[in-house]
Amino acid sequence: MIRRWWTKHGVCGNYASQLRSGRDRFLKLQNRLLETDTLGDTIIPATLSSFVPALRYSNHFMDANIFSNPEHGFRLNFSAAPSEIQHPFCGSNEIEGATCSACLKPLLRILSLATADPGLNVSPNETPAIHLLYCWTCSIPFGIFSYRILKSSTVEILEVPPAYEYAFGPEGPYEGYTGNFPQKNVSLVPLSDDEEQRQRAAQADDDLALELGVQSHQIGGFPLIANPQQVSCPVCSKPSPLFAVIADEAVGNPSADLPHAPQDTFTGNAGTQMVFHLCRTCSVVSAYHSND
Ligand SMILES: [Zn+2]
Ligand SMILES: [Zn+2]
Repeated sequence: MIRRWWTKHGVCGNYASQLRSGRDRFLKLQNRLLETDTLGDTIIPATLSSFVPALRYSNHFMDANIFSNPEHGFRLNFSAAPSEIQHPFCGSNEIEGATCSACLKPLLRILSLATADPGLNVSPNETPAIHLLYCWTCSIPFGIFSYRILKSSTVEILEVPPAYEYAFGPEGPYEGYTGNFPQKNVSLVPLSDDEEQRQRAAQADDDLALELGVQSHQIGGFPLIANPQQVSCPVCSKPSPLFAVIADEAVGNPSADLPHAPQDTFTGNAGTQMVFHLCRTCSVVSAYHSND
């Protein structure tokens, strides 16, 4: 049922691979869809709305050459030792200004990263925390969502995609969705050199990508993203490096052996990733989602 919703309303399966083959082909496909309406009703506006806004941000649509900061990847450790720097994952959002202007409720706080952690490569004097924020009950997943983090660690929303007819709405992406997930504190663990090299190699090697399977939550590095986009900062217009990718599991890391129940996930679709880019100069986060 959930999968059917995604197939109908999202970008997945064969259609996604058509998109991956390049911007020119996408534009041709887009024209053909607009002219002929051959794929039915809702998938067309949903798909185009998801991707057309992205064209404003990208000169190399579907270019998989990701440029990341931090350059070396970190995984989230959900069993952090008391001596480690800990970062709250999910839980309540009490961050000033971090309210969804469409839903009129606090945004989903995915992660607040304390920049005292030197691995993040962010000046704690300028930006004491990087908040990863999102919303699944309005138009936010259907375009690029951006916000600035002020020195006081409060948030100023910059861009919310326009209202979207096929958004999930207050009921969320699956039956029983609450948008509330328990807080877990995580620490950052660097990927091994071998893991990092395999991820980099898998960017251009589909078989290796398949072997690596579902990606974990990751800060920096070169996580595999099904539908990557290059993003520019809405304030300075410079390319904004990839900062973090959050997988669909809302209570831990993905596990192939023990898949989480839908209510322990953000969307009920294991292929969903929330992708966050960060312009350090402007302290601006830009986010979009990808699915397979
Ligand atoms: Zn919202
Ligand atoms: Zn900027």
